[in-house]
Parts: sequence; C-alpha cells; structure tokens
Amino acid sequence: MDKLKKIDVFLFDMDGTINMGEEPLEGAMETLRILTEKGKRVGFVTNNSSKGKKEYLQKIRRMGYDAKIEQIITSGMATAQYLSRHLPYKSVYVLGTDCLKQEFKDYGIEVKEIGEDADCVVLAFDTELTYEKLFHATNLIGKGRIYIATHPDFVCPSEEGDMPDAGACMALIEKTNGRMPDVIVGKPYQPMAEFVFDHYSVNPEDVAFVGDRLYTDIQFGINNKMTSILVLTGETTLEMLHKSDVHPDYVLESVNELRKI
Ligand SMILES: [Mg+2]
Repeated sequence: MDKLKKIDVFLFDMDGTINMGEEPLEGAMETLRILTEKGKRVGFVTNNSSKGKKEYLQKIRRMGYDAKIEQIITSGMATAQYLSRHLPYKSVYVLGTDCLKQEFKDYGIEVKEIGEDADCVVLAFDTELTYEKLFHATNLIGKGRIYIATHPDFVCPSEEGDMPDAGACMALIEKTNGRMPDVIVGKPYQPMAEFVFDHYSVNPEDVAFVGDRLYTDIQFGINNKMTSILVLTGETTLEMLHKSDVHPDYVLESVNELRKI
C-alpha cells in the first residue's frame, strides 16, 4: 500500500464502489472525507451518460459527502468534449436522454432531432428510448454517418435488476446494420482518460482508479497507465477475478481499506 501514499488523485467509480443505487456503501462517505482531509484529490467517474453532472452532485451530497461540481465526471461530459475537439462543426443525432442533449448544447454542439440528417450519431444510455429514436439512429448509422458511443457497458445495475445499457444497444445496432462504433469514449477507453487528465491537470502515474468492474474500471486503469484498485463490493467476485485476464494492481474488500494509506 506504500505506493498509494504517493498518489495525488483518487478517482472512484460509483455504483458497486461507493454506493448501490441510492444508498451509500457502509463507511464509504467517511472514507472519502478521510482521504480529502489527508490532502488527496477525490473524483467520481461514471460511464452512465443518462444523467447530468448536477444530478450526480446532488446524489453524492445526499449520501453524505460534500462534493463539488468539479469532482464529477461522466462519459457524457467526456463525449461532449471529444465532439467539440475532434469533430467541430459536426451536427449530432443523440440516442440519449434530454439531459445529455442539453449537455451537448452547452458545449455549443448542434443537436438534431428525429427526421433530420446529422453528421454523427451518439449512442448513450438512453432511459428515454423510443422505437422512433432507435430507428432514426440505426438509419443514419446504416447510411455511414460517424458513429460514437459514450461507453461500452452492457448493463447498468438497479434495485429491480440489470438494465440494458449502451453496450447492449450497440449489439442491437450491429445486428441491424453490421456497424460497431467508430469511437467509444468512456471507461476503459482513451478519450475518457484524456478528459480526466486534462480536468485534473495531472499525469497518469499520480492517479489511482478505484472500481468494481474488471472490463471497464480496472481495464481503464491498465490501458491508461493509472494505478488500478479493484473493490469486491460490487460486480466482481474473487472467483471472477481468478478466471479473468484483467489484473488490478490492488484488490480491496471495500474502499474503506484506503483509510490506512
Ligand atoms: Mg460500478
């Protein structure tokens, strides 16, 4: 754990890492406070692009940690920055929530509606999905428009069971017209890491990523040269870890073990 003492920025996944749905995991908020008091910078990085940063801010505050807006990073924010940097002046059709569309508009991105052509299609976690939206998106993608996904997760955990997430929609689109995204922004991919390093003005060796999912959180750390810390409070069991090719730098029972550093 000695190496962790030197880490400046601790980034946390949310569901399964510090909370489960609306409830904080036991001791997690106190751990965040302790790390903050020790002078560590703490941030929250979620692939869930269905909600905006203000909603996450309120949620974390409700759970008992006095977060600031700069501590919240979503794949939607990273996608908006990616679009404005790499595809400026391109219009976008968003298979996503109104909240995400607003996030894009705030970045000055031209957002198109059903029935309108667009230069790019962005696939997000669309909890307001309709067949008309889906059909318009698959149609534009089938015509060869640039295709970007906010993140690759197959499911989003919820109290009622796993919800089909952007990765599941990706499979549906692939079955429809044979295409996979040209770019995926969120964890474990590089565009999200670039956003994070810019946002904190930090180098990867000074960052630890803490999460419960191997193929997104831990792979994100590994791909982008951050220290990776797996917690066993969410999706991954020890059995899954032993069978996996993804090897975190540290494996902790819960985030509360970070109080020791
Ligand atoms: Mg998680």
